[in-house]
Amino acid sequence: MTTEGTQPDTTDYVLTADLLFDGEHVHENHAIAIAGDRIAAVGPIADLRDHGEVSKLDGTLLPGFIDLHAHVHLDQTPRDIVLRHGLTTVRDTGGPLVPMAGGDGRLRVLGSGPILTAPGGYPVPVFGPQAAIEVADADAAREAVRALAVGGAVMVKIGLEPGGSGGAPWSAHAASSEPPWPLLPVETVAAIVAEAHEHGLTVAAHLSGPAGAEVALAAGVDEWAHVPCDPLPDELIEKAAGAGVRVVGTLATLSRTSGLFPNAIRMAQAGIRLLYGTDLAHPDVPWGISGFELQLMLHTGHGAVTPTEVLAAATARAGDHLGLAPLGRLVPGAPADVIGTRGDALARFKLLEYPSLVVSGGVVVVDTRD
Ligand SMILES: [Zn+2]
Repeated sequence: MTTEGTQPDTTDYVLTADLLFDGEHVHENHAIAIAGDRIAAVGPIADLRDHGEVSKLDGTLLPGFIDLHAHVHLDQTPRDIVLRHGLTTVRDTGGPLVPMAGGDGRLRVLGSGPILTAPGGYPVPVFGPQAAIEVADADAAREAVRALAVGGAVMVKIGLEPGGSGGAPWSAHAASSEPPWPLLPVETVAAIVAEAHEHGLTVAAHLSGPAGAEVALAAGVDEWAHVPCDPLPDELIEKAAGAGVRVVGTLATLSRTSGLFPNAIRMAQAGIRLLYGTDLAHPDVPWGISGFELQLMLHTGHGAVTPTEVLAAATARAGDHLGLAPLGRLVPGAPADVIGTRGDALARFKLLEYPSLVVSGGVVVVDTRD
């Protein structure tokens, strides 16, 4: 889509900045033209002046950020605050099933609904039976997936958590039963994956170590919702890399566990590029973009991961992973979800926590530029 040759509407406007990160690459002195709720054009500022009123930002323009691991429904995190701090989309991975909404000046929230697990499996011992759908066999699992798909889930989350990981958030709560907690068998998980794929849904597993990882790999689970926090053998990391498993970081909230950083470092060396997710709603995670999470993604990359790649993990690659591309990119036709920071956001991730500009679906939500 382009508006070349057409007269700009009064609601159309142009944003420019010193730096523009389009979700993949950084450009200097570029601009974006916004028409309604979409991005109409992107290019050098000289080419876009006739697309509407131009306003300049001293700093960096970026796509609105996407957090792929949040729980805003579970603890009623204030969505307006999350949006004002740079996240324009969150994926709720475990919580009440609520169809996709927002993206129009409100935080876009997509969800999985409750977590599928073995009878008595995680998260039941920690968060109670209402947090989960307990499935006794493959048939029950397929039926549960069908109900989630009909109810508007954008993915299926499963629990493969035996418990007992020191320092993990789920170990900090009083549990109703002692670990090890039961895990779904491979056949049941394989049935969940098959049924989910028939409905165009991906499957993400909460797993913390080798036992869950073995089941997830054997059953073809698409995504690990965390970097595992118990040490994984090299073979499992190589196997996950070879299978193209997508892994969401949640590094900050698991940073007090023993295996997280060794796993993350070896994953980076094996070529696994983490996706951005924070477990938003945990008490140690900010209500918005987490500069600390981004720093950890960079540092565990040990030079194999660039700042540009880290930001792509929260923008372009996250939109692709959701199946909602070009969401997460500043390209013509993409939803007009844009944030702006003072200064160079690629050199200083902290700036992203306090954006001076937030636009959601073309609606300006924050503008504190002076
Ligand atoms: Zn979580």
